[in-house]
Amino acid sequence: MDDVTSTTFDGGRRDAVAGTGDNRGMDFSAEARLAHAGTERTAGAPLAPPLLAASTYVSQGEPDPERGYGRMANPGWTAVEKALAAIEGPGAVAVSFASGQAASMALMLSLAAGRSRIVFPPDGYYNTRALADRLRPHGAEAVVADQLDLAAVGQALRAGPSVLWAETPTNPLLRVADLSALGELAAATAAPFVVDNTVATALLQKPLEFGALASMYSLTKAISGHSDVLGGAVVTRDEDLARDLRDWRTAGGGIPGPFESWLVLRGMKTLDLRITRQSENASRIADFLAAHPRVTAVHYPGLRPSAAAKAQMPRGFGPLLSFELAGAAADADAVVAAAQLVVAATSLGGVESSWERRARWAGETAPETLIRLSAGIEPVEDLLADIGAALNAKPEPRATDLGAASYALLAVIASLA
Ligand code: PLP
Repeated sequence: MDDVTSTTFDGGRRDAVAGTGDNRGMDFSAEARLAHAGTERTAGAPLAPPLLAASTYVSQGEPDPERGYGRMANPGWTAVEKALAAIEGPGAVAVSFASGQAASMALMLSLAAGRSRIVFPPDGYYNTRALADRLRPHGAEAVVADQLDLAAVGQALRAGPSVLWAETPTNPLLRVADLSALGELAAATAAPFVVDNTVATALLQKPLEFGALASMYSLTKAISGHSDVLGGAVVTRDEDLARDLRDWRTAGGGIPGPFESWLVLRGMKTLDLRITRQSENASRIADFLAAHPRVTAVHYPGLRPSAAAKAQMPRGFGPLLSFELAGAAADADAVVAAAQLVVAATSLGGVESSWERRARWAGETAPETLIRLSAGIEPVEDLLADIGAALNAKPEPRATDLGAASYALLAVIASLA
């Protein structure tokens, strides 16, 4: 067995999995390597990477940065980071965090110093903007500019030294910004360009190839994929930024737990299968909803893909879509409650289809009747049957409505008498 290399998956290096025959140094795809993520190739090593739960290690003298203290390193994070870097593309490095918000916070703290503004899309994940507002005393002012309006973005960037923070497709309106065009605007004003790539994942969209300095992820969503863990990460080719992010992580303590990292890595091994199926399901559901008489708008990048969507997302358009219903919030609530298979829940990217009326969250700017749906991996016929039946649901009449109706009925009877 000594001709089998004792290396773990390291993604970026194409010669990492050595063999004995013609496959030596073969150029395997990142997707193929993802299935082997974190696996040792030493005889007797377990195929499932072991969980190392340790806050501290036996040590004295010069501290070992890998085995000194649990806030500095863990092999579980390293395995996740290698896998994330591998699917982002050559030269990338990843830094993982306790959640998407912890990753965003470190990124904002790293990039906002010395800059006066962070330019966000008005329709992206609302807690990212809320976080920037909270960090205002330590960083830059949060401003919004429609990222499909390049003139507005350019104007916002020229108003002062800025960070350009894109999100595409946006959550929950699924609008697709043109990453190449945004990258050029950012370069023209020397603004660091960050893309929240949570909805698409790096398998469907690779922001660094379109001029972004960093891709930011909530690993809580499709990347881990099983609705059982929170995590976050930033992926970049810029070593200085990566070092700064690690320093913020060590100093601030927003580290991923070893077990959480283990769950993320386990989930990532099936990301390719899941995201492919979820994209197919979401696409079929979007078509179905677009033809439904109660639905007034469907938001899905694959429905009538823009040139940017086609160029940036060649493999599929992701698990997330949203749609608006005729009527009021209560109509949308009744539909959400009526589903038997699609589960009422927030979050996205899990194996189980879920949905929610998004405006139930304070701070969300989505329309009142907008339902955000995350397509899971179930057979699409089951999903279409469930969604179709739920769309027949109407709100229960309220007591006041019943009172008004009986009063109207009495008035009719009285007028006939
Ligand atoms: N970015 C996007 C697009 C999100 O949808 C979310 C969470 O919903 C986040 C960031 C924050 O991630 P987390 O909940 O892991 O902190």
